Amino acid sequence: MGKILLIGANHAGTAAANTILDNYPDNELTIIDRNDNISYLGCGTALWIGRQIQGSEGLFYSSAQALEAKGARVYMETEAASIDFDAKIASARTKGGETLSLSYDKLILATGSAPIMPNIPGMELANIQSVKLFQDGRRANELLDLPEIRTVAVVGAGYIGVELAEAVRRRGRRALLFEAESTSLASYYDPLMTAEMDKILADNGVELHFGEKVQSFKGTGKVEGLVTDKGEYQVDMVIMAIGFRPNAAIASGRLDTIGNGAIAVDVRGRASLPDVYAIGDCASVYSNALRGWTYIALATNAVRSGIVAAHNACGTVLESPGVQGSNGISIFGYNMVSTGLCEKAAAKAGFKPLVTDFAALQKPAFMPDNHEVKIRIVYDADTRRVLGAQLASFENISMCIHMFSLAIEDGATIDSLKLLDIFFLPHFNQPYNYITMAALGAK
Ligand SMILES: Cc1cc2nc3c(=O)[nH]c(=O)nc-3n(C[C@H](O)[C@H](O)[C@H](O)COP(=O)(O)OP(=O)(O)OC[C@H]3O[C@@H](n4cnc5c(N)ncnc54)[C@H](O)[C@@H]3O)c2cc1C
Repeated sequence: MGKILLIGANHAGTAAANTILDNYPDNELTIIDRNDNISYLGCGTALWIGRQIQGSEGLFYSSAQALEAKGARVYMETEAASIDFDAKIASARTKGGETLSLSYDKLILATGSAPIMPNIPGMELANIQSVKLFQDGRRANELLDLPEIRTVAVVGAGYIGVELAEAVRRRGRRALLFEAESTSLASYYDPLMTAEMDKILADNGVELHFGEKVQSFKGTGKVEGLVTDKGEYQVDMVIMAIGFRPNAAIASGRLDTIGNGAIAVDVRGRASLPDVYAIGDCASVYSNALRGWTYIALATNAVRSGIVAAHNACGTVLESPGVQGSNGISIFGYNMVSTGLCEKAAAKAGFKPLVTDFAALQKPAFMPDNHEVKIRIVYDADTRRVLGAQLASFENISMCIHMFSLAIEDGATIDSLKLLDIFFLPHFNQPYNYITMAALGAK
């Protein structure tokens, strides 16, 4: 039994809190969060803005009251200001200005991430925002209700930017999507896969400005224009979606970090000082594809790391098996899923990647309601280890990627997939299915 202090209570923090409260009720758990809500599912923001769901009510799965009912002491709208790691005391400020001194035996940092907002001229203008918190989603919705907001620039064509560009179109506004890379989703997919997504975005009215770098914003009070290295555009609103950086300043100088400032942890979630754990977007993750520590900000990683660290903080040894960065996106009905490394990322990481591609109808040609599926498997030329996989289709191919995720986790080779037992039923797939065919096509 001991005193556990948890700083941050979104996905990672809520997972850790529930693990502690459900399994180790004898501990004294104190939770602080600077926001006024917990467990907001940012993945629903674009669906909410695009009116694909009714409202934001269903986007929360826990609350301060729910955690209090299980026995936690919860301080909302309370910000951790500093931590004395030697004395094991955190100092926090409540909304009312009161200072709290919170002592602990074990500390779990779950302070998450913040959107990257580059320091470029005009960034302070009104109607330029990011989308991270529930409050950001509400603000974007309110702005899009105004008739004078006719043209919206989305900066960054990663999965959040692409989802928001779709949402803006669904709200009947002009959407300009800016991206320095030459395609959308360039971090997780190769151009072979993104070409179709880019076409679908363009076909649905998203104006693509790829290979174009935003340099400044113009306006008086409110944003009125955007300047890139290739041109100048009139815009009424800007959504910044160029990535996230870890919120780890509170531990600065005391805990080891990786390159981007995320807190370095081990497979039990332990940071570099005794009795300190870090989870979710503020911490590093072990990538089985890279076979090294890296940064992948995803809710799925946050939840798993919260569970792992909570057990270890309470005395049960549990090691994370690592992650593959599995992700998915669905835009105007077109679905893409990937895991591990795309060819470009694998080459950048120092591998000698080879790829094998295949495309086929999901089901035999005699079946109705049938679409093409594209698959690419990336593997290492030296070891033949599977490094990544990507699939794209109007079919729901989402469950397929989990198999590749496990293949990467287990260090499977491309050759082990060649004659893998894959069932056939016309309702679902083809006897010469695309996984087998892609694997057989590997050099
Ligand atoms: C628009 C959008 C869509 C997304 N879609 C997906 C998706 O489809 N799938 C997926 O897996 N992931 C998705 N993500 C990523 C996912 O939301 C994050 O990986 C996840 O929120 C990380 O959870 P976390 O708890 O580690 O950090 P955060 O969500 O950043 O939470 C950190 C918490 O710490 C609190 N905090 C920070 N500093 C302090 C302090 N000093 N004192 C007190 N409290 C503090 C904050 O208030 C916050 O509640 C999406 C993110 C966004 C923004």
